[in-house]
Amino acid sequence: MVQEVVLAVDIGGTKISAGLVGPDRKVRRHIVISTPANEPDIGDALQGLLTSVTDYTRPAAIGVASAGPVDPQHGTVSPINIPAWRNFPLVDLVSATVPELPVTLVGDAIAAAVGEHWVGAGRGATAMLGIVVSTGVGGGLVLDGAPYPGPSGNAGHLGHIVVDPAGPRCSCGATGCVETYASGPSMARWAREHGWSGPDARALAADAAGGNTVAQRAYDRGAEALARAITTAATLCDLDRVVIGGGVSGAGRVLFAPLQRHLDRLSTSDFAGRTTVYPAALGGHAGLLGAAHNALSAARTAPRPSDILLR
Ligand SMILES: [Zn+2]
Repeated sequence: MVQEVVLAVDIGGTKISAGLVGPDRKVRRHIVISTPANEPDIGDALQGLLTSVTDYTRPAAIGVASAGPVDPQHGTVSPINIPAWRNFPLVDLVSATVPELPVTLVGDAIAAAVGEHWVGAGRGATAMLGIVVSTGVGGGLVLDGAPYPGPSGNAGHLGHIVVDPAGPRCSCGATGCVETYASGPSMARWAREHGWSGPDARALAADAAGGNTVAQRAYDRGAEALARAITTAATLCDLDRVVIGGGVSGAGRVLFAPLQRHLDRLSTSDFAGRTTVYPAALGGHAGLLGAAHNALSAARTAPRPSDILLR
């Protein structure tokens, strides 16, 4: 009988978190550390974290969520915001630290979507898009009630849907991607170019809430780009729900009020217009819970606990 407690790990550019998750969908022994700047410090820190979380309990499987791009087939990651890792064999490192367990790998935005669908604001949705608006814009899909990572493991990457071909140059090489309008740094940069002075998108949100018109326009512009991408995704996938998380979504009404206004204006088909948008409910736990969901599925389907699913 497999003991269905899994080790979940969520690796981002600024922090790495890990915890144990059981079928009750709660995170236990949750530990968060800052992501070191250099390899091998990142590897050492990750190994130390995994060892301390699994000190007393042997999990049945390990679920890893990582900033992308990820390559689940080969178990490697090349996170844009962790330059020290390029085609880094993350699954091998995890397997070497906590051996002889199935290890699954998923992109962090997909994990966040799966976590919200499993436990949070996406519960019960049949077709859901999860969006993370932060220093970038990521996304993940749940279709027919099941995670849809796609063949490469990167489906739903909403941040690089082009909403204006004549728009700003994006880090991906295209122009006018959602991310160039709606990410925190993009909104703050646009506001500064139009006379606002402040450190970041959090300050921008506070100023927008306080009535600063440039700050409000920056959020309105980001919200319109998100609305265009959401309308496109809803038309393509017949979505019944969109869940938006990430640091920028903490702006609350400053983001969600203009977003709903633009969605109402842009949704021209009845079926796409029925898509409802909710703020994420799980905060920093969404990625961990999504990674845990993957690992629990792997633990249930693994023929023997000693099988390594991804090497
Ligand atoms: Zn792009």
